[in-house]
Amino acid sequence: MKIAIFANDERLSRSVSQKLRQKFEDTHFIFDEKSPDIVVTVGGDGTLLSAFHKYSALLDSVRFVGVHTGHLGFYTDWRDDEIDDLVISLQSDNGQSISYPLLDVRVTYADKAKPENFLALNEATLKRGSATMVADVYIGGERFERFRGDGLCVSTPSGSTAYNKSLGGAVIHPNLKVLQIAEISSINNRVFRTLSSPMIIAPNDWITLIPARESDYLLTIDQNSFHSKQVSQLRFKISKKSIHFAKYRHMQFWQRVQDAFIGSDYAN
Ligand code: NAP
Repeated sequence: MKIAIFANDERLSRSVSQKLRQKFEDTHFIFDEKSPDIVVTVGGDGTLLSAFHKYSALLDSVRFVGVHTGHLGFYTDWRDDEIDDLVISLQSDNGQSISYPLLDVRVTYADKAKPENFLALNEATLKRGSATMVADVYIGGERFERFRGDGLCVSTPSGSTAYNKSLGGAVIHPNLKVLQIAEISSINNRVFRTLSSPMIIAPNDWITLIPARESDYLLTIDQNSFHSKQVSQLRFKISKKSIHFAKYRHMQFWQRVQDAFIGSDYAN
């Protein structure tokens, strides 16, 4: 089995990653940064997002395992003091995995002939920095509304607990292959009207945004930002690709949500 370790820059993550490396060497795993079978991330959910983007060309063959050096995350299962158990689990690996849906984003620019395609694990957002963003929203090819406000966020089920949740979006179990669109500060008054509720979009529908002709858009794909783009159209759909996690233990999704947002000590 070929392994790559991907750690963030925190002191604890660097030291855990060194210990892991030593343990993998002692147990004769092969290190392969370029084409690993398993990518072990050390850090938080943000670290796993970065590893996902680094290895997004290998999604069909690679599985991810997350070790957290802070709090339990949505993409990280192992505590930093459990790396012995993790190495033992990897030694008896039989290919078990759990897969989460991804978001396909196709961006067409006013000043470029060719559209660009991205994959997002959490979400993509379109915002306008200096003034109100105006964009027509289409669902499944039909015009739904004209949005005015700061921006729009389209998220995956596993991304529903990230930015989407801060925007009042619903938390969605990652077994469901749906997309969610949430508004970022829409303008609603007697003249301008939007639905003002997050929408959950069926797997066979797609979302299209046609923003007004402006040049100061900010497009984000997970933690990556692309400034001052003349975006003429954005199209979102559930990708045919998925991210695969090596699952040696399984924590229920709702238990994870409770741990992250409510805390197990909470009682009333
Ligand atoms: P960051 O700004 O350093 O951290 C964002 C926080 O989101 C971190 O606490 C991170 O957890 C957490 N997070 C990431 N993915 C998550 C998920 N699927 N469910 C629940 N929490 C999650 O940026 P980053 O670490 O590079 O992460 C980029 C993400 O930040 C974006 O994809 C977006 O979802 C999120 N974001 C949120 C807001 C907001 O809530 N207002 C604004 C911008 C971006 P860890 O501490 O475990 O890394």
